[in-house]
Amino acid sequence: MTKRMRVFATCDIGESITLLRERGYEVEVYENPEPPPKSLILEKVRSGVDGLITTLRDAVDAELFEAGKGKLRVVAQYAVGFDNINRADANRYRVPFTNTADVLTEATAEFAFFMLGALARKLWSAEHLTRENKWGFWHPYLPFLGDEVTGKTVAIIGTGRIGLAMIKKCAGFDMNILCYDPAYQNHEYIKGIQETNDLRHARGICREKTWIKYVALEEALAGADFVSVHVPLLREGESSTPTFHLFNEATFRKMKPTAYLVNTSRGPVVDEAALAKALRDKWIAGAALDVYEREPLPADSPLRDPSIEDRCRLLPHFASAAKITRLSTDPDKGMAGRCVQGLIDVLEENYGGDVTKMPYVVNKEAFAK
Ligand code: NAD
Repeated sequence: MTKRMRVFATCDIGESITLLRERGYEVEVYENPEPPPKSLILEKVRSGVDGLITTLRDAVDAELFEAGKGKLRVVAQYAVGFDNINRADANRYRVPFTNTADVLTEATAEFAFFMLGALARKLWSAEHLTRENKWGFWHPYLPFLGDEVTGKTVAIIGTGRIGLAMIKKCAGFDMNILCYDPAYQNHEYIKGIQETNDLRHARGICREKTWIKYVALEEALAGADFVSVHVPLLREGESSTPTFHLFNEATFRKMKPTAYLVNTSRGPVVDEAALAKALRDKWIAGAALDVYEREPLPADSPLRDPSIEDRCRLLPHFASAAKITRLSTDPDKGMAGRCVQGLIDVLEENYGGDVTKMPYVVNKEAFAK
């Protein structure tokens, strides 16, 4: 590097920052655990940083790109989701932004599966019983029973990276699988799962024959015992099939009263007021959420209603929160490593400086010749 690159990171992402410094970068990190105020990010960008490391907590929009005009060369997002970044604004200012797809796929999918299991088998209520010393006796059905997962039907809404990984985990639990995705359908993968299922059945590993297929949303909702959501947050105007409030009163009405919802995607995909109503009025049996319309979850959220506490699991945006996934400096293993590599690719003009060839750049369309 001829010029010493300046980078501002809106939060600490661990050892990858040290490696960047050892590489000759001048890196300033916002050390507090909470997100920095936007005014501070604008101030840093205005001061002429070459690269900005962001998380889903930071609004990256025209105001920010204007502040960095002619200086800011890359925004490296520490997440796969980038709904906090205004893509049209990034394109207008011709600033590439990167994300950390793939390295969090398995961690997020396994967490979604654990949420599904914990919800259905009432792990939270069962542990409370033990801890509060209310476990008086063993009984065939008192004080409550859970629902088995094995052999049930799951609907996977969104069959991108994480949806496909979730399918693989559900298949291991002998589940039937309904897939819905209006924009991307991976029929080869589905075929592979079916062949594996058939082999497991033929060899006596799995007692019942199981199936997997793509269907319309209505069929997925009506047929599922579990609905697991794996879509990006796409607001009106950002897609022909937006996902904002995809789950609302009408959608919940289409689910079985015995069905459970699991959401590890983005909070605004679910209308929380409608979900609280659906749980209170028992339109559906339960829900487990990792993400919320507002984060952290406000104290007065309808989801905190004590009357639905036994069937509403609330996790703190935790699905990718595993050690290697979050902090490994290896770009093939960790979000930190991949985030920093995305930044380096742009600033050091790897791939002959051709942004469209850089694997972690998202908005390649702005740079197509
Ligand atoms: P991806 O882009 O590979 O997959 C998303 C899929 O959703 C695509 O196949 C797309 O066609 C599909 N889709 C778009 N609109 C849809 C609609 N209306 N209905 C159904 N499907 C639709 O993304 P990914 O890597 O699988 O990640 C998915 C999302 O999960 C991310 O955008 C992010 O918001 C969220 N996420 C959350 C956590 C967490 O910690 N809770 C971690 C990682 C990712």
